[in-house]
Amino acid sequence: MPEDDELNEDVIKEDLKQQIKEKLKKEILNEVYTELKSEKESLTEAVVSRLSEEHLLTPVESTQITEPNQEEELLDKVTISISTKAILKIATHSLRFANRSLPKREWCEVFGILGGKMYDYGPKLHIVNAYPITHGDIVSVVDVFMRDSSKFTKVFKHLKKLGQFICGWYHSHPSHGLFLSSDDFETHLNFQKQWEDSVALVMDPFKIDGYSYGFEIYRVDFKSNRYNKVPFLVKGALDVRALPELLEFLSPIVENKATDLEFEER
Ligand SMILES: [Zn+2]
Repeated sequence: MPEDDELNEDVIKEDLKQQIKEKLKKEILNEVYTELKSEKESLTEAVVSRLSEEHLLTPVESTQITEPNQEEELLDKVTISISTKAILKIATHSLRFANRSLPKREWCEVFGILGGKMYDYGPKLHIVNAYPITHGDIVSVVDVFMRDSSKFTKVFKHLKKLGQFICGWYHSHPSHGLFLSSDDFETHLNFQKQWEDSVALVMDPFKIDGYSYGFEIYRVDFKSNRYNKVPFLVKGALDVRALPELLEFLSPIVENKATDLEFEER
């Protein structure tokens, strides 16, 4: 039937038109995609070179893991994680006794205990919280703390109630860098004698610059009698870039001041 033929022809034409349309659509999309991609690459390159020129790009220290893909790769090697809360507490404690509004001669180091929990998977040791103990001459204050069983037991019992244990200690090095001094080394040996995997966290709050969390975690290797950096993971999605601003905001609260006076109070 001629009518049928006509109908068939229409169907074929329509089908062909559709196929051409689809092909064109794909080609156009591909072209747009390629263009956008190359534009993005050159844009990224330009931005990166500009930032490097202005020294705004500094690689994050190798022991500090912030990118999720890095996180996955290194997760097997990382045996320690630390909570955002612990970092904020150590940083605010350190800054309370050494900050720009205090004369430098009055700056002093702070000392505290790290409360941990053990896990069977991922980073085995999680530093849940930090407990400020005191400030002053670190060698003597830590020595007193370790020798005075009533002080040590008080903290031990408090942590036990919370399901944590003393997994190490922290102290600050306001503006003098991250390392263990020979005294710190001796002090830490006492912690590792109590629990072999104890860690020593050293914080220099003046290293918190948007690229660094401002601390390192160390452990002594008994065989070589040296201390090593222990890689760690920050739990709780604390963005290292936000840390300086966060601390600036938190510092008045720590010192019992209002973060901002109401206009009617001024
Ligand atoms: Zn020290």
